Amino acid sequence: MNVLSLKHVTFHYAGGPAVLKDISCRFEADRFRGIIGPNGSGKTTLLKVIDGMLKPRRGSVLVDDRDIADVNRSEVARMIAVVPQETALVFPFTVEEVVLMGRAPHLGRFAFEGERDRDIARTAMERTGVLPFARRNMNELSGGERQRVLIARALAQQPRLILLDDPTAFLDIKYQKTVFDLLVELNRDEGLGILAVTHDLNLAALYCDTLVLLSEGRINAQGPPGEVITEERIARVYETEVRVEYNGGSDRPRVILRR
Ligand code: ADP
Repeated sequence: MNVLSLKHVTFHYAGGPAVLKDISCRFEADRFRGIIGPNGSGKTTLLKVIDGMLKPRRGSVLVDDRDIADVNRSEVARMIAVVPQETALVFPFTVEEVVLMGRAPHLGRFAFEGERDRDIARTAMERTGVLPFARRNMNELSGGERQRVLIARALAQQPRLILLDDPTAFLDIKYQKTVFDLLVELNRDEGLGILAVTHDLNLAALYCDTLVLLSEGRINAQGPPGEVITEERIARVYETEVRVEYNGGSDRPRVILRR
């Protein structure tokens, strides 16, 4: 898979109004993209449509030239891995077990993991710094550690593209940076495509190559952070006055709240 594209996608939850309206965009599988937008603008829904979990009412999601609806779920999972929103759900599994679950789409129907799968899971745990907790239960970890385990599981899946739903939602700045630094490294060193929903405009501006800004289910803007994040646009879409600054010749905007 090289490109995932959406063509005129409209989506409704059962009986409800349109939550995504005529969305067209392309995600190259070697870029670091961010999806931003106010609460309720459709970000999480968009990720689920991109992954093929939700089916558009109109329009299509294409993996290269194939409609994702025609690709079986295991094949989709070998191309696209999803890191769900970190929740405090109690997982009755160890870290190692969770990461090994990432191998499922590569196994035959009744096959168990083999030595190679365990090696891949181990490498994924090393890469994300969770190997020291391999034997611990998920509910004995901090939010930041659990998030990294979920990223390790996605890596064990060996996809081309990782979708993340607000990976730093509950994390302090140290873990925010750890997670985004890791994502940038995976993108740069391994050519892994990253598509991350985030509510944090500054993290998005600092790390992503390009951003998609959603507003009320439509794409309001897409492009490099400096084009998408402007004072006028943020004020309009988020109904909040902000100052946008650039530090020391950087082309990455910083959003500052005004009082
Ligand atoms: P965001 O991620 O930008 O906060 P969501 O995609 O979660 O936005 O939600 C977009 C809209 O869809 C919201 O109005 C929300 O209430 C609605 N919505 C989300 N999930 C469901 C669902 N399972 N059933 C019905 N409506 C939903």
